[in-house]
Amino acid sequence: MKGRIPSIILLTVLLMITGCTNSTGQQSRIAEKRSKPLVYASIYPMYDFAKNIGGDRIDLRMVVPVGAEPHDWEPTAKLIVALEEADVFIYNGVGMEPWADNLIASLNGNGPLVVEASKGIQLLKHGNIGNSQHNHGHVSVGYDPHVWLDPTRAEKQAENIMHALIKADGGNEAFYKLNFQEFTGKLRNLDSLYSETLSRLDKREIVVTHAAFGYLADRYGLEQISVSGLNPQEEPSAAQLAALTDLLREKRIGYIFFETLTNPKLATVLADEVGAKTEVLNPIGGLTRQQLDEGLDYISVMQQNLETLERVLGQ
Ligand SMILES: [Zn+2]
Repeated sequence: MKGRIPSIILLTVLLMITGCTNSTGQQSRIAEKRSKPLVYASIYPMYDFAKNIGGDRIDLRMVVPVGAEPHDWEPTAKLIVALEEADVFIYNGVGMEPWADNLIASLNGNGPLVVEASKGIQLLKHGNIGNSQHNHGHVSVGYDPHVWLDPTRAEKQAENIMHALIKADGGNEAFYKLNFQEFTGKLRNLDSLYSETLSRLDKREIVVTHAAFGYLADRYGLEQISVSGLNPQEEPSAAQLAALTDLLREKRIGYIFFETLTNPKLATVLADEVGAKTEVLNPIGGLTRQQLDEGLDYISVMQQNLETLERVLGQ
């Protein structure tokens, strides 16, 4: 029994030396008190992508509360402290979350591993027919932030998220990669379904309440006409509304889309004015509690959006 105590000491010393390395020899950046990485995702699409990749091996939270309209949302001081203590912070970027830009600046390189999901993705400039001169409520970066609405760009976002999860938690690299591949398959199916369906339809114009569908329009050759700018809180001026009404009449627009998280009043008034109907097209910036309880997610809402587009543009 003499050799037993020294071997325990040896084991302890070895554990101390390898402190930040797990059984597979991968680096881990997870705070010591946690069994899995604490990951914050800013808005719903980032949350959905992270969930698809991280599964139950990450402790995932969404920053913007369920049912809240993500534009112009601001975190509380308490939430900022919580974010600073996380292992990973994922945000869309491109001015979608002005509060995140402030938060990151205040971190000074400390705090969580920060992932800007849109990094390296080809961005689109602002600009929407109908209100091209419109000012917008996002941070003025000059680009459209609604990157996730094009499934091919969403794949790039998911890839950026996967790399960050691996960086933070290398021990689960194989798991994250496998999940990413599976999710990529779903995104590619979605993309094919969109291409096939929309290429069969003659109509190209979609009239939407806020200019969230620029990337979707870009990918599938649609033409977005928006009532307000990039931010749904903006209201067009009387002159802009008059010009838009003329445009919609001239183009014989039959449908105006509104969203689930914003007031449909403007879309309804405009539809009445030009003799159009209204339909819902979801920009997926956030889902409602009810939608989440029904099991809806990014992929299924994108499918719903496609069914709606097919119905409306096929008429
Ligand atoms: Zn938006």
